[in-house]
Amino acid sequence: MIDTTRSSRISGFHKKSPAERLGIVSDFAGLDAAAAARLSDTGNLDLSLADRLVENVIGSMNIPLGIATNMRVDGEDVLIPMATEESSVVAAVCNAARQCYDAGGFTTSMSGTLMIAQIQAVDVADPHAARLRILGRREEIKAICDGCDPVLLSFGGGFRDVEVRVLDSQSGPMLVTHLIVDTRDAMGANAVNSMAETLAPHISAWTGGRVYLRILSNLADRRLARAHAVWPLDQIGGEAVRDGIVSAYHFAAADPYRAATHNKGIMNGVSAVVLATGNDTRAVEAGAHAFAARSGQYGSLTRFEVTADGQLSGSIELPMAVGLIGGATKAHPTAQACLKILAVTSAERLARIIAAVGLAQNFSALKALATTGIQKGHMALHAQNIAMMAGAVGDEIDRVAAALVERGTVRQDIAQAVLQDLRGGAAGA
Ligand code: NAD
Repeated sequence: MIDTTRSSRISGFHKKSPAERLGIVSDFAGLDAAAAARLSDTGNLDLSLADRLVENVIGSMNIPLGIATNMRVDGEDVLIPMATEESSVVAAVCNAARQCYDAGGFTTSMSGTLMIAQIQAVDVADPHAARLRILGRREEIKAICDGCDPVLLSFGGGFRDVEVRVLDSQSGPMLVTHLIVDTRDAMGANAVNSMAETLAPHISAWTGGRVYLRILSNLADRRLARAHAVWPLDQIGGEAVRDGIVSAYHFAAADPYRAATHNKGIMNGVSAVVLATGNDTRAVEAGAHAFAARSGQYGSLTRFEVTADGQLSGSIELPMAVGLIGGATKAHPTAQACLKILAVTSAERLARIIAAVGLAQNFSALKALATTGIQKGHMALHAQNIAMMAGAVGDEIDRVAAALVERGTVRQDIAQAVLQDLRGGAAGA
């Protein structure tokens, strides 16, 4: 039934303290003291810091942080912190990395650390001539952009180029200016957005048009991270496994329905490291999926093929706009600890490692799918989740999960029956 006595129109909510807000929310939702206490326990993130990072804070949501082992990237061993709520993601990376470790692990590269900002101008009478007018002012544009961020300049970043496109849109031609900016160790959203906003009135004056949007593009295709690995046949279980993985890739390359799931698996690994390091998961995800559709058909971010001597070769290429400073990367103490675990000193190294993690993740998923199926590997942790959903607590979780795995059927109704037996047995004992 709809409760009409409750109102979400809460005046001045943003001006209250987190504790006051939590009190209001508890009353609204009928939270008991235990639930409210759990929300306000912010773990390794100071409540005052959380309150500065986002708006209307009442607490924090903790996500497990796991470490993927066995990763060797460009000749250097590295431990990978991964923040994820999904079971099997961390194990998948460990397994994939183990199977290519002796063959050298992952080799990576990066196309650059360039971000793109877009400025949209409409109602331009002569868009093609206006395009040339903008391009002719390259040096002026560079000076305006670089003047916005002297700190970025001092770290070797700044304006690199300007491009102008005439877009045919539903509301007529649009003139879209792209600022290409090297943002070095920053993800760079704020950096390039400021440049676009500062330049916008000039674009308006030079083109005679009206400027609307001034913001970065998350399709960061000037910031592509690449990773490659060879999995020897004896490590992966032979030719049939290799061919199954290649066939799975071909499936994804040919079918967007499959490619969506294929790339989701890649992002399981990618987003977990992006989140652990305080970076923007949505920015990286948007960039990855837009890049996957760049040909007009959504496809795979990875490629699998067979080397001349019959080994499995895997590669990945995707935009990777991550930073070591800016956003929550510097502010969140856990992100700082994760960056220390990764031992990265540049955003480029971080991006390259993340690409390697995405490839590792995909290898494991395809191998499982092409052989035993995905559920077998998921079974143990999934069984624990189902046991908890059925109400198991403490030791009961492992005991119920073990019983489910033994039966080979992980279902909540069975978990409930097992739990009932267990409790009945204990009560009777
Ligand atoms: P930021 O503005 O906090 O920090 C970047 C600035 O730090 C640079 O402009 C520079 O002045 C300075 N800096 C210091 N040392 C540097 C170094 N070694 N290399 C480069 N710059 C250095 O952060 P940002 O990276 O511009 O923006 C990231 C944030 O923007 C993220 O929180 C993201 O969520 C958010 N954001 C994203 C989008 C989007 O993706 N569409 C849009 C808006 C905001």
